[in-house]
Amino acid sequence: MLKLHVKKGDKVLVLAGKDSGKKGKILRVFPKKGRVVVEGISMMKKHTRPTQNNPQGGIVEREGTIQVSNVQLICPSCNTATRVGNRETGKGKVRVCRKCKQDLDK
Ligand SMILES: [Zn+2]
Repeated sequence: MLKLHVKKGDKVLVLAGKDSGKKGKILRVFPKKGRVVVEGISMMKKHTRPTQNNPQGGIVEREGTIQVSNVQLICPSCNTATRVGNRETGKGKVRVCRKCKQDLDK
């Protein structure tokens, strides 16, 4: 399986597209497609039919997917957009921040 450098719940910086420079939290990842959904990023309007929950129907805004290569992880320790490294723990690999060397996965 393709391994992404980000995962659900990560805070990321968007590097390209109309939301370039914005920050948001990863809501969903699609490892096979190499795409992610980031909170508040790449919003698109979607027309919906009336449902029980939304009797009016109409237009809702929701996040579209973006290329995972267009986001960079923001390290929770040093609060900077950073590249992700890996560290072998003996039990497996953990992601580490290339800048402050802190573990990204707690
Ligand atoms: Zn860091």
